[in-house]
Amino acid sequence: KYIANQHAHGFNTFITPLPRAGQWLDRVKQADKRREQGAPKSPIDGCLISIKDNICTRDLPTTCGSGILSKFTSPFNATVIEQLENAGAVVAGKTNLDEFGMGSHSTNSRFGPVKNSRRDGSGHDLSAGGSSGGSAVAVAAGQCYAALGTDTGGSVRLPAAYTGTVGFKPSYGLVSRWGVVAYANSLDTVGILGNKTSIVQDIFRILNQHDERDPTSLSTFTRSRILSQLQAPQLASRLTSTPLRIGVPIEYNISELTPSVRRAWLLSLAYLQEQGHTIHPVSLPATKHALSAYYVLAPAEASSNLSKYDGVRYGTRVEGPDSDGQPDSYLYANTRGSGFGGEVKRRILLGTFSLSADAMDNYFIQAQRVRRLVQQDFNAVFAAEHPLAAVQDTRLGAEQIDILVCPTAPSSPPRLFDVTGPSSGSSPLDAYVNDVFTVPASLAGLPAISVPVTTSQSSHNSSAGDVAGIQVVGQYGDDELVMKVGELLE
Ligand code: GLN
Repeated sequence: KYIANQHAHGFNTFITPLPRAGQWLDRVKQADKRREQGAPKSPIDGCLISIKDNICTRDLPTTCGSGILSKFTSPFNATVIEQLENAGAVVAGKTNLDEFGMGSHSTNSRFGPVKNSRRDGSGHDLSAGGSSGGSAVAVAAGQCYAALGTDTGGSVRLPAAYTGTVGFKPSYGLVSRWGVVAYANSLDTVGILGNKTSIVQDIFRILNQHDERDPTSLSTFTRSRILSQLQAPQLASRLTSTPLRIGVPIEYNISELTPSVRRAWLLSLAYLQEQGHTIHPVSLPATKHALSAYYVLAPAEASSNLSKYDGVRYGTRVEGPDSDGQPDSYLYANTRGSGFGGEVKRRILLGTFSLSADAMDNYFIQAQRVRRLVQQDFNAVFAAEHPLAAVQDTRLGAEQIDILVCPTAPSSPPRLFDVTGPSSGSSPLDAYVNDVFTVPASLAGLPAISVPVTTSQSSHNSSAGDVAGIQVVGQYGDDELVMKVGELLE
């Protein structure tokens, strides 16, 4: 059924789809047998899981949606692929994305834009969100059971919100990044997309392991310390019975919120209150600078990471004479000039500039300070202390809350036509603005989930305006609580 859907729809979801027949079919049949015998390897035994094409797979190419890697196949599997396969899952193809994860609409791909599987009321094609748009649409259109994406500044949560799926970004350092092509290392996480929170949770529990090959992977010792901290009497009950204290960040209530998004937010809060939880307005004052800080830091790290694609170490080499007729002396420029797309080049230039001696203090260092303020804002409102913070932040006068609930994106998905190409009149900045609610959790490394919340009563009208993504953000390490609240809302 999933493979038939992969071949039926023209959403441009896959860069490399799964062949109709192949060795994978035997693996699914074996898993079916294990299930019949009541002994599946795991809850995802035999399940088809799509993989964003910036996660390395030995059996299928890994292009990162880029011309420069269009012929690249990794000699090894990323740790997350090994974990999924050991649990019996089958890679269901490699999904389309914004080149190297840079974008918010999955339109910056050498392989063409992804189309949302939902359309607006007048039948126009919509943005799938980005950069994991292919993974999100593969889930929404029934082309796989679940999918992996990467979330550096919202790239799992935004596509989830735009496609009506569930998208989860774990706390930074819980899921291995080994074999995941780096965009901005200090922000990159592997995220999970599915139709239900419970599916995402099953997969997270399989991936949530220490990996010695990833230097930022939390050690087993730190993991158990965090767990025991969260099992302290005043915190443990949050997962079972006690009413939760739900924080509502007032800075997220901006005038630009689309009415359907605001309605979804209000409905969610009203529902949580009905369930006996209490609602508390909180302030996260540094939020308004988070987006600018992100768009300094992420390109800075990217410019460094992408320097290895030079046609010698990595990347399809483009030879040919330079303007003086000298063969090969512009190998580096030719390779990078033709291999990278426009948005990637823009980020490399921005990052190289902000890291240069003259600009460093005004941009990179300032952005790092803002990042720290964003982290302190979160620490000041959560009742649970940040388990990795060396010095606990001051909490005087702040509301102590368990979890934050806010929109994932300010608006419903824009029309694809309005965000593609120079004729659309939209600038790169217009795309950056969609990330305004997702980057704060990324800068602070916090777990966050986007769940679809239906805002209209009528069930037969399934146009895109009827569903909006609502985001749940928790303290570092509180991933299970984030998923629990996500499940309440979906
Ligand atoms: N829109 C963000 C960016 O382009 C999202 C990145 C991501 O999470 N991969 O940087």
